[in-house]
Amino acid sequence: MSVNPGRAAAISTINQREPMPLTMTQPLNKIWASDVFNLASMEEALSKNAFKAMKNTVQTGAALDPATADVVAAAMKEWAMAKGAKFFSHIFYPMTNATAEKHDGFIITNPDGAAITEFTGSLLIKGEPDGSSFPNGSLRMTNAARGYTAWDPTSPAYIMHTANGATLMIPSVFMSWTGEALDKKIPLLRSNAAMNKAGQRVLALMGEDDIAPLNSSCGAEQEYFLIDTAFANARPDLLLTGRSLIGAPSPKGQEFDDHYFGAIPARVQLYMQDLEDKLYKLGIPAKTHHNEVAPGQFEIAPYFEAANVAADHQQQLMTLLKSTAKEHGFVCLLHEKPFKGVNGSGKHVNWSVGNSTQGNLLDPGSTPNENLNFLLFCGAVIRGVHLFGPLLRAVIASASNDHRLGANEAPPAILSVYLGDQLERLFNDIKTGKLEASEKGGYMDLGLSQILKFERDPGDRNRTSPFAFTGNRFEFRAVGSSASVHGPLVAMNTMLADSLNWVADALETALASSESKTAAVITVLKELMELHGNVVFGGDGYSSEWHKSAVEERGLKNLPTTADALPELCSEEVIKLFSDAGVFTPVELQSRYEVYSEQYILSIEVEAKLITDMAKTIIYPAAMGYLSDISETSLSLKEIGVSISNTSAQKIAGLLESMMDVTTKLEAALNKHDFADTNEHMQYLAYDVRALMDDVREHADALEGEVSDEVWPLPKYREMLFIK
Ligand code: ADP
Ligand code: MG
Repeated sequence: MSVNPGRAAAISTINQREPMPLTMTQPLNKIWASDVFNLASMEEALSKNAFKAMKNTVQTGAALDPATADVVAAAMKEWAMAKGAKFFSHIFYPMTNATAEKHDGFIITNPDGAAITEFTGSLLIKGEPDGSSFPNGSLRMTNAARGYTAWDPTSPAYIMHTANGATLMIPSVFMSWTGEALDKKIPLLRSNAAMNKAGQRVLALMGEDDIAPLNSSCGAEQEYFLIDTAFANARPDLLLTGRSLIGAPSPKGQEFDDHYFGAIPARVQLYMQDLEDKLYKLGIPAKTHHNEVAPGQFEIAPYFEAANVAADHQQQLMTLLKSTAKEHGFVCLLHEKPFKGVNGSGKHVNWSVGNSTQGNLLDPGSTPNENLNFLLFCGAVIRGVHLFGPLLRAVIASASNDHRLGANEAPPAILSVYLGDQLERLFNDIKTGKLEASEKGGYMDLGLSQILKFERDPGDRNRTSPFAFTGNRFEFRAVGSSASVHGPLVAMNTMLADSLNWVADALETALASSESKTAAVITVLKELMELHGNVVFGGDGYSSEWHKSAVEERGLKNLPTTADALPELCSEEVIKLFSDAGVFTPVELQSRYEVYSEQYILSIEVEAKLITDMAKTIIYPAAMGYLSDISETSLSLKEIGVSISNTSAQKIAGLLESMMDVTTKLEAALNKHDFADTNEHMQYLAYDVRALMDDVREHADALEGEVSDEVWPLPKYREMLFIK
């Protein structure tokens, strides 16, 4: 028997694909940031004074006067039009993981019908899309629709090239007429300001007199899958939900560990180069790429940047990953778990804070015990994760990330901090009132004269920790691959702001009664570690012992699903945290909870509807057709006196019957609407509906193992993951 004709056609399409020729082969210095209106382009285009004002705004966040905005707008328009742009757009980040844009022409006409172009400071500064058409969590009534976008001069404007031409894109914030944040950028900017203010307090108390504004930075590693479009188009689940709702694991998956860091398939290399050239033109510093653990899975990581710019770039990166994939005949799946049985995808958010005068405050240097600023900032992070672990869990919660967290391939849903041997020892010493030089990593010496010796890191890595110190930054490893990085950055900056304020208060008291600064720092950190040291954990985060002891002995929360995690956004501590820091008013925070729960509910409902549809209209007919074929055959054989056992027919009949039973139950479950509140609705979906979906899938996947390959209509895992 041969493969099913539909699938065979898909495979043959792929075999006949011509590799996409590389069109952009210019050297890096020719293309780097060529489509970005950054400080370098502004220096050329602006008067000295205007440039100085803009530079000050970009580097310190200082206000820009309207007259300079006019000058910048005119120069920006000239620059963009010279690159072929006829339109401009404020691009903003609504409370989805996507971006939004509204395009306006530069053109206006005069009474004689002649056309001129115009772009003033006020057009640059403010745009007005319909505020009610984006998720707003009851912040806007449909009849009170006004929403504003406003230029964020600290993230550079750029040109976006699409099939229909070039557009000037202006990174912007998005708010309601009453000034509430409707987007993800406003809270990020606010959280950075709160962190800066609190950080300045600590540094001033430590005797620093020249303190530049503090900024958070972010480097996000992005994992993704590439599947040929010919396969994806034949799978309604991949098209509509980004993951396979049905599909039996391939006999060979990732067991041989032969994909990770392996040779990158030629077609994928072309894709990566094309993508990276596009990123370079946009000034996005793509730095590493490699195969990931699962077959068909890859990673790209740009070099880190200021968090606000990195977050904008991350959105552009996700858009370009997908659009470039289409040009190469691939679908890029950013879903956290597109395929059962092989690893899912994450987005490790590397984060640190620093400034131009004190440097990276999370860099311990070679003698961390002497680096008091580092110890205070690192301690503040520990306190933050301990107090606001549930918040960190809530900001990474989504229907899709639920498939990945806690599944022994990704960090558990319990938030703890990994410090590495050296720092863990140091902070444990502090708990006993000591601050001593800790052991360094020493040298790596293999005893082979031709291999040069090198300095070893002071601690190993821990893949099982959701929040790990990695040398000069923390790596929030539990973030999902499809998520924007805004939420995690906002939570980290704000918890740090809160902790730095606590540190500053404690330091004020300790300094008054201590002999030395060092003694005061030890006093503060000793108390901090006594209260919060419980969150530090260097062991195996996947183990069941940890799941037990984390909760029972250490009092950490285990929030396995989004339904368990999202309500944390409404806890008293979290409301207070955000309103004290000026990041979210209680009303704004409530609106986020509403938007994210609605997204969760919709995602599960769409998947549940689709899987019932697939079970009834794809799996059932295929398996039933095959069953009647083999039954007929065995009947005719019987007529000529040949009798063979019909265990397979029996098995298929049984599986079909129970699959349809569960499908009916799932359909009925989706008709339940009488929930006391949103939390109850989410719990029902997370536990009852998801269990029924898993049950339907189990039957469908078992049928895949029984029904002839010739009639199985859906592309199989072994094809999707391995044929490129
Ligand atoms: P690995 O896979 O070894 O963790 P990668 O090189 O893939 O590391 O990614 C590490 C990411 O961390 C990169 O984006 C890198 O630029 C970023 N990074 C490095 N230093 C910092 C820092 N101080 N703050 C934020 N991000 C950082
Ligand atoms: Mg990493």
